[in-house]
Amino acid sequence: MKHDAVRKLSHDITTCTRCRLSLTRINAVPGEGPVPSRLFFIGEAPGKKEDLTGRPFVGRAGSVLEALLASVGLERNKVYITSIIKCRPPENRLPRRDEIAACSGYLDQQIEILYPEIIIPMGRLASELIFSHFGLSHGPIGRIHGKAFHAKTLHRDLLIVPVYHPAAVTHNPPIKSALFEDFQILGTIIEEYGRSFRHE
Ligand code: SF4
Repeated sequence: MKHDAVRKLSHDITTCTRCRLSLTRINAVPGEGPVPSRLFFIGEAPGKKEDLTGRPFVGRAGSVLEALLASVGLERNKVYITSIIKCRPPENRLPRRDEIAACSGYLDQQIEILYPEIIIPMGRLASELIFSHFGLSHGPIGRIHGKAFHAKTLHRDLLIVPVYHPAAVTHNPPIKSALFEDFQILGTIIEEYGRSFRHE
């Protein structure tokens, strides 16, 4: 049932023409990972390699993300990875407000279907969108990264753990140690939160 819903959603995304990015993309990038998914990672937007392949986080930021996941014993294929918009902005510019608004319904549906226990928005834009989705007030990413925030859906409680975006390592090398520390904290949270869920 959930697999059917994900397949339909992926089809809707790959054929979507809701915003101008449909005119310049090669492939839309819905996301990938297990269904349902305990851990749900959200980046900003597909880049060049993602656009060419239709897969999320396969470029340099993807290598950083895989190293971060491995640092806490997680394999890439055990988590869901997507982004707030599903098509590449030309020249990798920042997504525009109207593009994010046009695309956000797909992210909402993914959260609904995949039923994550922990959502990890990566970078400021993804954090702002997720905090707004759950009615939380967002501070500067420098202040909220690596912390756990409680949120609710109709059916369950979940955690939001914002972290810096893996691509930031390329432009700002000092971020690297903060990012690895964020993932260490995330690893501890996963361990504790998972244990509490197993007791339910
Ligand atoms: S970015 Fe989102 S809303 Fe825009 S065309 Fe792609 S899938 Fe549709």
